[in-house]
Order: sequence, then C-alpha cells, then structure tokens
Amino acid sequence: MYKIMTPGPTQVKENVRLARAKECTNPDLDEEFVEFYKETCELISSLLHTKNETLILDGEGILGLEAACASLTEPGDKVLVLDNGIYGKGFADFVSMYGGKPELYTVDDKNPINPSALEEYLKLNHDYKYATLVHCDTPSGMLNDIGSLCPILKKYGIMTVVDSVSGMFGEEVRVDDYQIDILCGGSQKAVSAPPGLTFVVVSETAKKAMAARKTPIASFYANLKVFEGYYEAKWFPYTMPISDIYGLRVAFDNIAADKDMLKRHTIIGNACRKAVTEAGLKLHLESGFSNTVTVFDVPEETTAKDILDTMRKTYHIMLAGSFDTLAGQVIRIGHMGSNANKEDMIATLDALDKTMQQLGVSLKGSMREIFEREYERSI
Ligand SMILES: *Cc1c(COP(=O)(O)O)cnc(C)c1O
Repeated sequence: MYKIMTPGPTQVKENVRLARAKECTNPDLDEEFVEFYKETCELISSLLHTKNETLILDGEGILGLEAACASLTEPGDKVLVLDNGIYGKGFADFVSMYGGKPELYTVDDKNPINPSALEEYLKLNHDYKYATLVHCDTPSGMLNDIGSLCPILKKYGIMTVVDSVSGMFGEEVRVDDYQIDILCGGSQKAVSAPPGLTFVVVSETAKKAMAARKTPIASFYANLKVFEGYYEAKWFPYTMPISDIYGLRVAFDNIAADKDMLKRHTIIGNACRKAVTEAGLKLHLESGFSNTVTVFDVPEETTAKDILDTMRKTYHIMLAGSFDTLAGQVIRIGHMGSNANKEDMIATLDALDKTMQQLGVSLKGSMREIFEREYERSI
C-alpha cells in the first residue's frame, strides 16, 4: 500500500469508500434515487456559491471538458482558448473535434494569465462564442485568477468555460461572482472520491445558447441537453452509476462539514513551497502557485524517475512526475483534499529529504523541519 500524495487521484476517506458499498436500488426506476441525485447536485452548487444547476455525469474529469465543448460548439464557431499550460492548450482539440475554430491566446507558461493584458487583447479581438480557461493547470501547478478573467470576457459577451478539476475546494471558486457559464469538476482531485465522475455547473446563458443551436449536438454521451427535464420526467438519459454517486455524496458532505478546508490548503501550500525553496530546490513557476500542488524542477544531480522510484520503493509514498512538454522535468507533490494534512505532509517531506540525500542531492536544510516550523507559525 502506498501513501498517495499525487495531484489526483487523491486519498479516499473510509466513509466515502463505505458509502460505495451500500445496497443499491434501480436508479432508473426508484424515484428516491432521483431525489438523492438532485439533492447531491444542489449541495455541489451551494458549495460552489451558485444558483446554477449542477449535473453529475458518468465519466471522469475529461468527459466534463468534452461535454462543455460538444454542447456549446457549432461548426464554424470561434472559440478563444486561453493557454498557459498543457490543459489550457488541450481545450483546442475538443473545440476542433466538434467543428469549432479555436484561437489560441498563448502566453508565458511560468506566470498566470494577466487580466489587463487579456483586456487589451479583447479590445481588438472579441468575436468569440465562448472562451476556455483552466483554473489550476495541474502539470505545472499554475493557478489562473478566474475571478478576474471571467468577468472581463463576459464584458464582451463571451461565455466562459472553466476547468477547475484540480482547483476547486483547494482554491476558492464562486461561480456566480466570477460569472462562469460552464464549470467542470472531477471526483478524484480535492473532492477526494475515487476517479470516475465529473460534474458540470451550467448557467442559464449556456442553456439558452444550447437551445438556440441551429445544428444538433454531435454526441449523446457528451451532450448536456439530454439531461433537460430529467427531474420532472424522473428519467435519466442513461443509467446512473449509483454506487459512485453514493460515495461522491459523502465526499461532498465531508467538504460541507470542513469549515477550514481553504485555509488549511493555504497554510500547507505556503509551508510546502517554503520548505522546497529554503532547502535549495527550485519551484517550477515564477508566480501563480496553486495551493493544491507543489511543482519543483528536478535537480541536476538526479532524474525524475530516480526520485519517484526511491520515494515509492523505499518509502511507499507516491509522488508524480509530469507529462507532455514537462515529462521528466518536474516532480509534483499533490496536497489537495484529503492529502492536505500535516501528518502526511511531514511524512512525505521527511522521505523526500532522505531520498535526495540518497541520490546525492545536497540540500541546505531539512524540508520536513522547515515545513513544520512554517506550519506551526501559520496556524
Ligand atoms: C485531472 C484533471 C482533469 C481530468 O483529467 P484526468 O484524465 O483525470 O487526468 C482535467 N483537467 C485538469 C486541470 C486536471 O488536473
């Protein structure tokens, strides 16, 4: 058994695992399940500070992103793809797949997207149906300020699609205040349920845009319109994964009961970054650090593979490397959701101190000790 300290999937608490073992009903025919589904969706909306409707879809995070693009994009639609990271850029593929014309707004990938620079760009270029943004671009740990960026886009009548799969509940998300038209989340990041579910929060504006389409949505599974009127009709478009949703509900009950969740992420994120930098390692980003994940460059003396293998084989702790353009270059410590606790962080940094020593990387201090000092100072 490993201690999972990856930026998703994260550790799953026992009460979530046990809820998935509950006896099942027929989710197609039992009206109590329809009530339970709707209540769970309403709980998610309230935790994200919105009156907009949430839908839980049967597929992991990627399905939410694809469903948002499939449901909004008509052939020829221009879509602005904000790109300062791998997931950011990746949205362009979903837009093209459904016949849209993505236009990349590609900026520096070591710093968050600058709201005033975006505003300048939009003054001259604003003929877009919607824009895609990533809250926390997990491969680099980049946190974009969606609370400033979305309202700027909306000023020009551009709908906003936000991927906060690895941001929400570790970083604040206020859907109504930020003016997010479709927000995408997943079960396996800070929510701390097993992988397998995604949920989308859909505004009235986005629903109107779907209703006004001239062409049908070119998908069934990724079509958000097929959920329309499900509650009144007591009819889901496909059989809901009832046990997964029982588990998800308990994960959200845990979040609702955890009043210090955001504060704890801030303290742990700050203390972890301090530990890494004071010990002489280099954070990958210049600014825009998400409190859900810490990403540092692999020191010259060793390789990502050696660090990850030693951590796993000797200390039974799983950290993550990265992928695509960042493959082999960085190590990621995922401290989101149930991973974000003092004991697991101390065990992880203690093992990382020893791993670095074993691999011939000399540190200027103990990451474990620096973390503990900073943590105690902040609480
Ligand atoms: C994890 C994640 C997703 C979902 O994709 P996976 O296939 O679960 O990796 C989507 N967007 C972001 C930013 C993520 O971190």
